[in-house]
Amino acid sequence: MTKKEVHQIVKSLDSLCQDSCQKLWNHPEVGGEEKESADYFRKLLSEEGFVIVNEEQLKHAFYAEYGSGKPVIAILGEYDALPGLSQKVSDKKEAMKEGAAGHGCGHNLLGSASTVAAIAVKRFLENEGGEGTIRFYGCPEEELLSGKVKMAYYHMFDDCDMAISWHPMSTNMVYDSGYLASASAHFEFKGKSSHAAFAPEVGRSALDAVELMNVGVNYLREHVTSKARIHYTTDSGGFSPNIVPPWAGSWYFVRAPYISDVKEILERVKKVAEGASLMTETSMEMKIDYGCCELLENHAYADLAYENLKEAELPEFTEAEMEFASKLESTIASENVERARKLYDTEGLPLSTKLGARDLYQINPLTASSDSGDVSHMMPMCLISTSCWPAAVSPHTWQATASTGSSIGAKGALSAAQVMAGIAYDLYKKPEIREKIMREFCEKKEDYTPMYEA
Ligand SMILES: [Zn+2]
Repeated sequence: MTKKEVHQIVKSLDSLCQDSCQKLWNHPEVGGEEKESADYFRKLLSEEGFVIVNEEQLKHAFYAEYGSGKPVIAILGEYDALPGLSQKVSDKKEAMKEGAAGHGCGHNLLGSASTVAAIAVKRFLENEGGEGTIRFYGCPEEELLSGKVKMAYYHMFDDCDMAISWHPMSTNMVYDSGYLASASAHFEFKGKSSHAAFAPEVGRSALDAVELMNVGVNYLREHVTSKARIHYTTDSGGFSPNIVPPWAGSWYFVRAPYISDVKEILERVKKVAEGASLMTETSMEMKIDYGCCELLENHAYADLAYENLKEAELPEFTEAEMEFASKLESTIASENVERARKLYDTEGLPLSTKLGARDLYQINPLTASSDSGDVSHMMPMCLISTSCWPAAVSPHTWQATASTGSSIGAKGALSAAQVMAGIAYDLYKKPEIREKIMREFCEKKEDYTPMYEA
């Protein structure tokens, strides 16, 4: 079977891809609650002949496997929505249901395209006979940055050789590196309650500890890598000012380009918390919720992904789609529109249809975090994006939700499925490319342990 024929299989699955994108978009489920979405994909893949493997501790995570022997190729899928981003397919901000969730990050497209790619690869393997396994990974809780970290903790990625991932975005491109490493931690201080005027000398304020900790961390900012981000919120337990607060806490996110930096900064934040505890004679407990890694660079793999972006059919948009995109774009500040159109070389159009330059990731770095980064530390992983919303639109916005519910998003999804199926095709057919990718991975990889404990 030629790669063109595999691309044809993907095209023949266009209506399934569109239905799937729409079905998920109409039933957005936030991280940790993706029951219907996960069950929908389980059913679809099981009917196609995949064997479904679930993890009891993680209800909405699974993988669907077809074939036997090596290599085992994973295609990663996600399906969680974002709270508060409910939106109609409209050029005005209007919720489908006020306050409800919506697919503002396009994970309805992400899960659907990955499923379609996995089905196409399965049909290819079936036709070829011989060795080779394809797995679709149903990954929950991406927006909480925890799903794949927990899946790694439960050994769901063991025995996998290589992973393929994608994300809906403003243009068609490949990422050699990307994603900021990130960690989430809670700090809880316990003091001693007393009447704030009658016997203040008896009290030990946990809230004082939280405040001192946050002041300390604000001084720390100057002395960490300039690309680090430290965010926090506090919870003082809602005590009245006339009671010395016996309990208070703060919740921190630490992000940096590398997980090694995140771990180091978190250790220093912990020292600041210990100092605050010492100053206030309170006790302190730190709990790391999870941490996720950056995307581990693999240029050989990115080269392969880029070749496949060249060979696949990139999304082409109709005049009506361009017009809708243009209306969405008009809700965004004009300087941002100009910048995005120039960056993605859209030739004055609101939607990008070209393939971005091979090194676009360097001038357009992916500064969000994703738990997909962890997968790239366990096995080589590539990351591509396709054009699924206007160039100037950012993910996690109502404009993105509107696009991912429209035919614009579905077209981006089908293209992504073609690219991913093409990458898998090459991985099965060309062991020499696999070896090259693996060699680079082995040179760069460091010990990996998921930053999570049940
Ligand atoms: Zn996302």
